[in-house]
Amino acid sequence: MNAPDLPSQDLSCLWHPFTQHLEWQGMEPLVIHEAEGCWLIDGEGHRYLDGISSLWTNVHGHRHPELDEALRIQLGKVAHSTLLGLTHPPAITLAKELLRRAPEGLTRVFYSDNGSTAVEVALKMAFQYQQQNGAPDRTRFASLSDAYHGDTLGSVSVGSIELFHRIYRPLLFNGVALPAPTHPGTPEEESMLARGLELLDAHGHELAALVVEPLVQGAAGMKMHSPRFLKTLMERARELGVLLIADEVAVGFGRLGTLFAMEKVGVAPDFLCVAKGLGAGYLPIAATLAPEAVYEGFLGDPETHRQFFHGHTFTGNPLACAVALRSLELFESEDVLAHVGRLEAHLAGKLETLGRLPSVASICHQGVMIGIDLTSAEGTPFPPGRRVGHQVAMAARGHGVILRPLGDTLVINPPLSMTMDEADVLMDATYAAIQDVTGSTS
Ligand code: PMP
Repeated sequence: MNAPDLPSQDLSCLWHPFTQHLEWQGMEPLVIHEAEGCWLIDGEGHRYLDGISSLWTNVHGHRHPELDEALRIQLGKVAHSTLLGLTHPPAITLAKELLRRAPEGLTRVFYSDNGSTAVEVALKMAFQYQQQNGAPDRTRFASLSDAYHGDTLGSVSVGSIELFHRIYRPLLFNGVALPAPTHPGTPEEESMLARGLELLDAHGHELAALVVEPLVQGAAGMKMHSPRFLKTLMERARELGVLLIADEVAVGFGRLGTLFAMEKVGVAPDFLCVAKGLGAGYLPIAATLAPEAVYEGFLGDPETHRQFFHGHTFTGNPLACAVALRSLELFESEDVLAHVGRLEAHLAGKLETLGRLPSVASICHQGVMIGIDLTSAEGTPFPPGRRVGHQVAMAARGHGVILRPLGDTLVINPPLSMTMDEADVLMDATYAAIQDVTGSTS
């Protein structure tokens, strides 16, 4: 039997996320059949370095023997059982282990399946908590400009990426956007902080919560701010009675060098939203962590209907919990955060060379999260129609590396387990791909 023509079958039946299918139809889709460590492998055995951790999820590499084992052991017990009315060991143990490592004050774990739902849950919890605990006028949310918190309508409401969110505006609730800088520690950051504090002072009384992507606004194109900027805003919000939601869906689980980004900020949030790296890039799992005071605000006799009315079918799936639990253990047994520190320093060295390319306008990086802004050598933006970011990602593929840009910002965000040699391959391919497309040499 002939091998099925998977690319044309894909074109005939799939609808891909965030994809213009008129363009997709003109491309030869790359079909990934297998993976190993930091490498993705197509049907002909060609290997590609996973420069974006399979959309920022993969932590310890693909097919890690211990994670595979944890999954197999759990599969021998039960693949799925519900947390609505029942419970199970992986959900309980993972919750305890997460809380042990989480920022101070968080005592409860509410599971869901993805980053958007982790944020949606935090928004609804914060809102309901305020409604039934003496602050019914706190009905709005503050967030940072250019925020991205997911694709469900609640998380889109607190997002402000024009391209993704504009069309849905009539369906969304209206929040307060606090200006966020592009680079940390700049005069721009100072003036935005002053404006953000003014907005908080003006609207604090009507805010249920402030939601932030701590330190790195990933989908905005790796926009970064300083811990001081965020700490100052969060502390002012707390003084004004506003709950604090840290969306660590992208930055959590070691991507910035600490297990959670909020450790660097030095503020204990009221809600911590995690997904992506929680499941180590294996299975969909998310969690919203909350403090005891919020949890208690939902207690009451059944007829008072104070409980949290939210829960997804696959909430706390046992297979996903088992993998997540073993992944947490690997952070310690493989000393992952120390490796991230070394990898960060190594990548920074390579980025210096890359920054000399005339079409590299600026580079923002922290931990293993990197954004490279491309412009013409004269410093003017490329015409959007040229799709330079996309072209560079395609050229990188020719050099054996998978990248996915955000407009003309190239995003690099490798698995935490990447070796220095692999990091060299990643950065050399990126350099060559930029040269291929922009024709620039340093
Ligand atoms: N929050 C942040 C900060 C994210 O980066 C993302 C996804 N990139 C989400 C939420 C949404 O996560 P998901 O795609 O799993 O719904």
